[in-house]
Order: sequence, then structure tokens, then C-alpha cells
Amino acid sequence: MDKVILIKYGELTTKKGNRNFFMQTLYQNISHKLKKFKVKIHYDRARMYIEFLDCDLEKIQSIIDKIFGIHMYHIATIVHTNIEEIKQKALEIVQDFAFSTFKVETMRSDKTFELNSLECSRILGGVILKNLDGISVDVHHPDLTLHVEIREKYSYLYVQSYQGSGGYPVGTQPLGLLMLSGGIDSPVSGYLAMKRGILLDAVYFEAIPHTSMDARNKVIDLVKKLSCYTYSIRLHIVNFTPIQEAIYQHCKTDYCITIMRRMMYRIMEKLAINYRAFAIINGESIGQVASQTLPSMSVVNQVTSMPVIRPVACLDKLEIIDLAKKIDTYDISILPFEDCCTVFVPKHPVIHPKLSVAIQEEEKFSYQEMIDDAVLHVKTICISDDEVSEFSKLL
Ligand code: ATP
Ligand code: MG
Repeated sequence: MDKVILIKYGELTTKKGNRNFFMQTLYQNISHKLKKFKVKIHYDRARMYIEFLDCDLEKIQSIIDKIFGIHMYHIATIVHTNIEEIKQKALEIVQDFAFSTFKVETMRSDKTFELNSLECSRILGGVILKNLDGISVDVHHPDLTLHVEIREKYSYLYVQSYQGSGGYPVGTQPLGLLMLSGGIDSPVSGYLAMKRGILLDAVYFEAIPHTSMDARNKVIDLVKKLSCYTYSIRLHIVNFTPIQEAIYQHCKTDYCITIMRRMMYRIMEKLAINYRAFAIINGESIGQVASQTLPSMSVVNQVTSMPVIRPVACLDKLEIIDLAKKIDTYDISILPFEDCCTVFVPKHPVIHPKLSVAIQEEEKFSYQEMIDDAVLHVKTICISDDEVSEFSKLL
């Protein structure tokens, strides 16, 4: 293997105390995602290196483009730290490109190397000029820049740079529970939460027979897409039918959505405690619908002391749609299967609910046992980008 993917960590470098933990987590994440490939992965404080077989490059790139914690990467050629070898490879590499102006940029981290960075760049520039016709050096706006990183045993030469997905490696924050409906917003919220390093479980509230198996399968497909950015994701499916029916039987119609969401949050909090999660994450976006006005969010939020993170709270719908397209969840999200929220939505939901009224309405039925029952009978599936497990018991 004479090629290597050279990874720059980016945002990690600002976390001085936690640096090792961040690098280790990134190393584990990359190793896990590339376990099917013949690769050698190692790292130091400045870079992570993935040696790979040429034939796997495209597939490996499509995977690492989805790994958070990578700021930028390069496909580099490895040579021994020896000026003659470096000269020869430098010439070979630039010959693959069409350019009329160029520069060589050297970074020498091995200070024992016989040449300093400037001398090395000059010598390599001279070799390229001497061997290729019709080209000149332009240090300000070159068509091509050959980067040379001189390290102790090996040196790395590259021309092209690729943008990584940024963020922090997944697993540098503990578990968060994502409320995942089949809509556009919640998968995007899950993606953004993972980008901050949060490990994710998803929770889906279903109301069979009012909602279909197609709606459930749609959520499973969304989880599959999200799992490309992490390890596997556990999807917890809550049977919401009895609670939802009770709400619509007993409560004022305009308060049904407010109360339904308060019930969801109560269940989320209990699940979060069971699974040792530290936050609830959802796709609420301020002002998008009646239940997402600030007064509505406030009344709903009263039932939990758990942090509720709303990654898309301040995004426009069009911005959310752009992200959904980027992460490839949009086409699944727009499939027209009814969700428990859409089946029961009243014509005029209250947009400025009062806490006292919500409490009064809820007291019309004994919801506590229903909530305990829903939590007890939750079904869990473990989903990764290539595998969906059978239902497993609550862990
Ligand atoms: P989405 O936000 O997924 O596009 P939506 O815009 O219809 O769906 P709402 O019904 O207003 O959203 O719900 C707001 C948030 O509440 C969702 O983003 C999601 O996080 C959560 N949520 C709503 N319905 C469900 C459900 N059936 N299961 C799990 N979470 C849900
Ligand atoms: Mg929404």
C-alpha cells in the first residue's frame, strides 16, 4: 500500500484536555466503519492515517465522508523520508494533472531532515520545472499545489483536498433519545445531534390501527439512513394507541395535540432514564405548527426536567429540506403514510395553551398507568446501515 488517506481533525484540536479521547473515539469509529476493508489505521496528534488498497478508494471515501470529526482529508502518496525518493514521486504525481502554473508547499515536522521547508519546496519545484514543458511557478494563484509533509520515517505527498463532514466523533457525548416521526424534520435533527458527537437511540410513537405498518417501515428506513453516521441505532417503538384514543375521547379537541405531546414527553423521560440517556432530541421548529409556538413548547416542556434539544428549532423549512436532501432522508420522509400526529390532528389546535387547562384536561383520564404500560411494552429493533435485527427485549 503506497497510498494513504491523511486526515486532519479540525475542531478536535480546540479540545486540549480531551484530545486523546477524541482521537481514540474517531479511530474506533473509522475502524468500525471500515472493518470490511483491508486497511491499516494509525494516528498521532496531528493526523490520522488510513492505508488502503487502491481498488477500495471510492467505497472508502463514501464511508469516511459520513464520519464526524474529520475536518479535511487528502489522498496522499507515501514515500521514505529521503530527498531522492521524494523528488521522483513529486514528479510522478504532478504528471497526472493538467496545469500551467504550480507551487510546492512543504511542511517539515521532522526537524532533523537535511533540508528546511523552503529549501525542499525550491528543490522539488526545480525538478518539476526541469522535466515538464510549458509550466511556471506562481506562488499566489497556482493551478496546482503539491503539498509535501516531511515526517520522521515517511513523507506524504498530495495535490487534492477533500472536505470532511466536520463536527465531533460520535460517542464523544453520551446517549440522547431522538423522537423520530416519519417527517422531514426529525431525521435532520438526529443527524445534527450526531454531528455534535451524541450517540443516538430513536423512539417512534405509533398508533396502529390508525397508522400503518408502512409508516413504521418508513421510520425503519430513516433509521437505516441515519445509522450511516454512527454505529447501529436502536429504534424503540411505543404503542401509543390507548393513550391517543383516551385523549380524543376525554379532552377538549383544541387541547388534544398539547396533551398528546405532554404524554410523549413523559414517556420519553421514562425511556431516557431506563436507557441512561442524557437528553431528548426532537424536530420541533419554532412557529412551524400550533404545537411549536413558544407558549405551546413551554406548556409541553413542563412535564420533564430532562434537557430537550431541538437542533432545527431556528431553521427555516427550506433549510431543513436542504439538509434532508443532503443526508438522503428527504425522499423517504415525503412518502405519504400517516403518522399518529397527522391522523388525529384537530382543525383548530390551540396556539397559546394554558398550563392550568392542560392539567385539568389530563385529569379526565388515568394516564399514569397507561404511560407505565406503554414504557413496559416498548419494542426495540437494532438497525445498522446493512442490518435490521429482530425485536429485542428492553435492555
Ligand atoms: P417532522 O418534524 O418529523 O417532520 P412534523 O413536522 O409533522 O414531523 P410534529 O408532528 O409537529 O412534526 O412533531 C414535532 C416533533 O415531535 C417531530 O419532529 C418529532 O421529533 C416528534 N414527533 C412527532 N410525532 C412523532 C412520532 N409519531 N414519533 C416520534 N416522534 C414524533
Ligand atoms: Mg416538524
